[in-house]
Amino acid sequence: MRELQSLDQQLIQLDEKRRQLESAISEQRLEMARVQEMVDGLADEMEGFQTRRRELNDAIAQEERNIERSDARLPDIKTQKEYVAVLKEIDTAKAMIRDLQAQLTEVDRQLESLGSDRAEKEQELASLAATVEARQAEVDQEMAGFSSSVAEMNGRKESLLEQIPAGVRKRYQTLISRRGGMAVVEARNGACTGCNMQLPPQLYNSLFKLDKPQYCPHCNRLIYVQTEQG
Ligand SMILES: [Zn+2]
Repeated sequence: MRELQSLDQQLIQLDEKRRQLESAISEQRLEMARVQEMVDGLADEMEGFQTRRRELNDAIAQEERNIERSDARLPDIKTQKEYVAVLKEIDTAKAMIRDLQAQLTEVDRQLESLGSDRAEKEQELASLAATVEARQAEVDQEMAGFSSSVAEMNGRKESLLEQIPAGVRKRYQTLISRRGGMAVVEARNGACTGCNMQLPPQLYNSLFKLDKPQYCPHCNRLIYVQTEQG
């Protein structure tokens, strides 16, 4: 029974270890997803600026065409008034172009800054991915080790369970699932170490003599005493 208890304890510990490894990995994956989201956000923002850049270039080209058209009209103009008006059109278009070019410079500046942020985040992502991949390989290896230990322990457990009378076995399994894996506990100085309650003296004494399963009347765990031989 005690070997069985120890096996179950080890199985529970392995399972706990496995969960810890898995949650560490999944945390790193979450971090990766977070950085990926930032990279995507930067890419979207850059796309917006690229669109704005195209619009500005189109507008500049349009103003340049306007200037060319106005220039072409100048030789045919008859009146001074009309001449002044066309020159004014040209000046206005040139002022527009200067303004659009200033906007374009600002857009380019934004694009450059976003581009370097994005490159930085992409590098961070790559190094995270490398870390996660390496860690995952380690975890996979550990998991494979666990699986073979677990399989071995389960095999041993089955054979131990078979040696136990059916009634005791059922009770043991119920206790394992209900008592956080501790179904078999030591009785020491007249008390159950599972629930720390004092055992009836007669029951406690019988533990030294009888070689049959005894249960704590308080927590129902299987109890045993540590004899000198261990
Ligand atoms: Zn107890």
